[in-house]
Amino acid sequence: MSHIMNTYARQPISLSHGEGAWVWDTEGRRYLDGLSGIAVNTLGHKHPKLVAALQDQVTKLIHTSNIYGIPLGEQLATKLCELSGMDNVFFCNSGLEANEAAIKIARKYGHDKGIAEPQIIVYEKAFHGRSLATLSATGNAKVQKGFEPLVPGFVRVPLNDIAAIEAAAAANPSITAVFLEAIQGEGGINPARAEYLQALRRICDERGWLLMIDEVQCGIGRTGKWFAHQWADILPDVMPLAKGLGSGVPIGAVVARGVAAHVFGPGNHGTTFGGNPLAMRAGLTTLQVMQEDGLMANAAHCGQIIVDGIRKQLTGTPGIAEIRGQGLMIGIELDRPCTEIVGRAREAGLLINVTADRVIRLLPPLIFTSAQAQQLVDILAPIIHSFLTQPQSAAA
Ligand SMILES: *Cc1c(COP(=O)(O)O)cnc(C)c1O
Repeated sequence: MSHIMNTYARQPISLSHGEGAWVWDTEGRRYLDGLSGIAVNTLGHKHPKLVAALQDQVTKLIHTSNIYGIPLGEQLATKLCELSGMDNVFFCNSGLEANEAAIKIARKYGHDKGIAEPQIIVYEKAFHGRSLATLSATGNAKVQKGFEPLVPGFVRVPLNDIAAIEAAAAANPSITAVFLEAIQGEGGINPARAEYLQALRRICDERGWLLMIDEVQCGIGRTGKWFAHQWADILPDVMPLAKGLGSGVPIGAVVARGVAAHVFGPGNHGTTFGGNPLAMRAGLTTLQVMQEDGLMANAAHCGQIIVDGIRKQLTGTPGIAEIRGQGLMIGIELDRPCTEIVGRAREAGLLINVTADRVIRLLPPLIFTSAQAQQLVDILAPIIHSFLTQPQSAAA
């Protein structure tokens, strides 16, 4: 009997080691990693520069607490501000923690303006984490069920619908922020359109709301730019980050700008582990390697190979609803639930995932090569084809 609490329907393999875009299970079978630990292993596995940096760091300092400053934290914060055009950073350890801090910033920003019960606009199909506040902000009843009462203070709207924002604003004078993913990840790879993000920026400026963009999954180079909202050429006021920032070492960050950067003062927020030297070194090394090796351009290039390849091999196959995404954040939506494709791919030596029941999600590491992108297509396309052309009853 396992002594691990039963919170995941796990795949029936155990992984033992990895190298580059490959991982091995305890039986010695090799898999092409098309998921990178859910958009976490930016540099793949066992990247020589990350391994060397972490080995060096453990011989110096692993943890100090936030009672003392560390140069590595200053360096990583400076780097993130440089890349984002924003002003300062709060470090934490995960995506939900970064989002929790963003929600607290929006609420205190409201209170500072004299709003007693600040409200935050959130989205259908959004995913922001599984703490009580972040699951309440999440737009998925399955994530919330059994954990009511939910945290109040959220107003929900559909994505890419400006009329819905204006209706929410008219109905509710206590709104202080809009909180969304630039590309919804768990919700099925649903991009916020560039014009929509630009309109939100304008509305937030006019109304004095904070624009808070959750880049936990779509940020850190995955879409071919440092941050996915940069495709719309706008700046957020608050940007939570996590997943890919440490290439596997737990880390979260909230990047803030302008008035949002000065909402918190001493005593308003904190964390024991956040900003520790090991995580800061992992973050710095990840960004440095991405820059030196041109990994964003690579993400755009490999993403195109995958999308073009899947389109080409599946032309004329009925049942493909849409192929969408950007760079190495790709969703292939089918017209029916398709979770069993995960197992079929695994048996064929490819790790992928299905989200929102019918969206095959691809999130390979940014060190993917063109050949690996093609290999992914060559394994996956025939699996999708045979799944879609089998008798419907077997697929259900
Ligand atoms: C994964 C994810 C989170 C939650 O991150 P954790 O580190 O699992 O807490 C929040 N927002 C988005 C967009 C995510 O993809």
